[in-house]
Amino acid sequence: MPENTEPPRSSTERAQRGSFGPGALLQMIRSAPVWTRAELVRQSSLGRTAVAERIDLLVEAGLVRINPQATSTGGRPAETYSFHADEGRLLVADIGGRHTRLGITDLAGRLIASAEADLDSDQGAAVVMTEVVQRLDRLTHEVGLDRARLRGIGVGVPGPVDEGVMQRAYLPGWEGESIPTYFAEPFPGLPVLVDKDANILARGEQARDPEGFRNTIVLKVGMGVSCGVIVDGRVLHGAQGAAADIGHLPAPERGVPCRCGMIGCTDAVASGRAIETALRASGRDVRTSREIVDLVRANDPEVLALVRQAGRDLGSSLGVLCAVVNPSVIVVGGNLAESPEPLLAGIRETIYRDFPPSLTRGITIVPSAIGAEAGLAGAAQLAVDDILRPDNVDALIARRR
Ligand SMILES: [Zn+2]
Repeated sequence: MPENTEPPRSSTERAQRGSFGPGALLQMIRSAPVWTRAELVRQSSLGRTAVAERIDLLVEAGLVRINPQATSTGGRPAETYSFHADEGRLLVADIGGRHTRLGITDLAGRLIASAEADLDSDQGAAVVMTEVVQRLDRLTHEVGLDRARLRGIGVGVPGPVDEGVMQRAYLPGWEGESIPTYFAEPFPGLPVLVDKDANILARGEQARDPEGFRNTIVLKVGMGVSCGVIVDGRVLHGAQGAAADIGHLPAPERGVPCRCGMIGCTDAVASGRAIETALRASGRDVRTSREIVDLVRANDPEVLALVRQAGRDLGSSLGVLCAVVNPSVIVVGGNLAESPEPLLAGIRETIYRDFPPSLTRGITIVPSAIGAEAGLAGAAQLAVDDILRPDNVDALIARRR
């Protein structure tokens, strides 16, 4: 953008000129719960007047709130500012292989309402997405949400996705599907942000503790296996949204055909689907990863052995990924990790046994601490990080003037 050299005419113009506009200040304000004006001046390197002008614009736009001042100490306390997460609402969806979670959040990703549905992704995107959209619509009615408050939609999908379009999906009826299209009619004009389920999970973890999860592998084990990585604080995307997709790397010495057409993939031997197939082969009727988790909790020896072996097989692919990512944490989430111990034990066994300490030293392998809601939190984070990107906020403020 060419530098504007004319003298600024109004405070709005001044505030928006240069690289540190109101949008950039909002991003800073969102990074901590409460700020004084002095702290904002110090951190932004803007002058007091410039900070004041930007704050005024953000308060007018409803995105920053001035906190009530404490008056008990006698002296004049400094006014403080916070991100006004209640300004708008987001619709969020975390679509899994067999199970989908839906929700409405505020702009900080706090859940206001949620719902669950057993939707089988094998039925294809058209069936699943139509159902997702209808159920979100129903949820907005149930809580009496004013549609004018909606700011955007965040969606996690069971496969790599690029610019909203499903890529090399190994699920029937998903390849090439544009996810935002399904929202266009019932929720017109809202930005729809889409990423694969493990990346959504990664964003959920990252939002909770950005420093702790700066270099992290996030594995999601449900009916399928999905994986995402955070490297130096960034969730990696890749050319087609499939960075870190270890589900279709070969697992050691297991000739099982995979739904992708290859033989012996990790997904074919270490997913909920694989465990379900093994259990059915021995005459047991198990249909969801939740049922598998129930059997883990009941200490069913056959299921414990299968889940532990799945962990070992996952460990082989994760170990390779460790060489690329150099993580400090591996987080294991997804439905199969709701009772995580046998899965984690299997992963630890392979990683610490088969890979050199130089690669695995200092890595902690933990279950997701936000559990089932992590996907919804991450979907909200994905949406809000885009909607409130500094240039989007600056444009929004410019439109209001
Ligand atoms: Zn495969």
